[in-house]
Amino acid sequence: MERGASLRGLTKAPALAWIAAAVAMAVALWAFATHAVAALLMMAAFGACFWAAYEARRFTITSEPERIEAVGLAELTPLLEALPDPALLIDDQRRIVSSNAAARAQMQFEARGQFLTSILRHPDVLEAAQAAVSSGERRAVTFEAPLDVERRTRCSVAPVIWGAERAAMLVFHDETARVTTERMRADFLANASHELRTPLASLTLLIETIAGPARDNAQDRGRFLTMMQAQADRMRRLIDDLLSLSRIELDEHVPPSDRADLRAVAREVIDTLSLSKSAVRVRVAAPDTPVVVVGDRFQLAQVVQNLVDNAIKYTPENGEVLVEVGIGGDRDETTARAGRRWSGAGHVALLTPTAGVMRRYAYVRVEDQGPGIAMQFLPRLGERFFRIERELGDERGGTGLGLAIVKHIVNRHRGGLLVESEPGRGSAFIAYIEVTDG
Ligand code: ADP
Repeated sequence: MERGASLRGLTKAPALAWIAAAVAMAVALWAFATHAVAALLMMAAFGACFWAAYEARRFTITSEPERIEAVGLAELTPLLEALPDPALLIDDQRRIVSSNAAARAQMQFEARGQFLTSILRHPDVLEAAQAAVSSGERRAVTFEAPLDVERRTRCSVAPVIWGAERAAMLVFHDETARVTTERMRADFLANASHELRTPLASLTLLIETIAGPARDNAQDRGRFLTMMQAQADRMRRLIDDLLSLSRIELDEHVPPSDRADLRAVAREVIDTLSLSKSAVRVRVAAPDTPVVVVGDRFQLAQVVQNLVDNAIKYTPENGEVLVEVGIGGDRDETTARAGRRWSGAGHVALLTPTAGVMRRYAYVRVEDQGPGIAMQFLPRLGERFFRIERELGDERGGTGLGLAIVKHIVNRHRGGLLVESEPGRGSAFIAYIEVTDG
């Protein structure tokens, strides 16, 4: 449409440009004939040609308005209503002639006849609207409006001739989601590189030390090699977790259709744990019959594994971790039954299924006797790279990706995730997943 408009502009443009060029040519010929004033007249001819060229150029960038010939408001309004984005038609006084429901809802106005300036104050949009109605310019303007959350909107302003009047059509497209996704991707890359760079820097330093000052000291060399091993392990864990997270995200939009017994999954995870010697006891409490959910067995094992690993990590020696599997009921019953057992504790829903009111859920609750988590940190659990230890100035510890992995898996299962924690008593993480009908 843009190109068509320009071409039509071009065919009209020479009306002035060709006259100017012809005059310039005639003057030039005469100048050669009279000779004496040739130089002066040649300059005049050049000026005229230059002006002609400039006019032609101006016409090519000014698009000719679209014509809405014999369409009345009654026909036009349903067309605007059919657009998913907010749209406005304004007259040459920048008064609103017509609008769709999306525009009225977003910009909060009701009647037509209002001036554009009274509902929208962004100077670039107003200027573009003015340019459209006065000189037929087509523009696209991006602006940010601080509403309840910051929104990025792109407004396309196109000139139109409606009947005999000059007018303009404004269409607004919300780009916030795209911009936010881009920003999150950039943040994630920056965070991931930072997380990998920290152990890498330690490794480099240790290698330099072993190659330099500690070269002849066997005892120091052994100590530094052990430290190098720990840093290399940390890098490997980070890479494993990052890969795991990206794999889960890839098919997060496709809910699993398989069946899995949550009780069997929990038992298997605990059985493999008991092979490694730990000073923390892990106990399972589950019903006598299988607890069958709609789920991916491997991913559900990953959920239990991550929650149990954390619980063991934070529980002191000789303490106990309890892994409980059960049927909760609907979403609210499950939350109340499995996620709100300690009256003095902080409770946060880290993930809530949107379509879950009528569904029935089974849950796995992993409870520890660790130090507990302060209320202010609870809502941030599940954020990538979030570690309470780091918030408190301790750079050691895990990757900060375990709970993010849990959250994404549960989200893929359209389930929920709760945390209940009380400093001095311990923490409990509860994941709930839909049970099968049969
Ligand atoms: P990681 O354990 O690898 O650091 P997670 O995503 O599993 O990463 O956990 C994020 C943070 O949440 C941990 O660093 C820790 O600060 C806190 N956390 C998780 N589980 C517990 C728990 N059971 N008790 C106390 N703090 C916990």
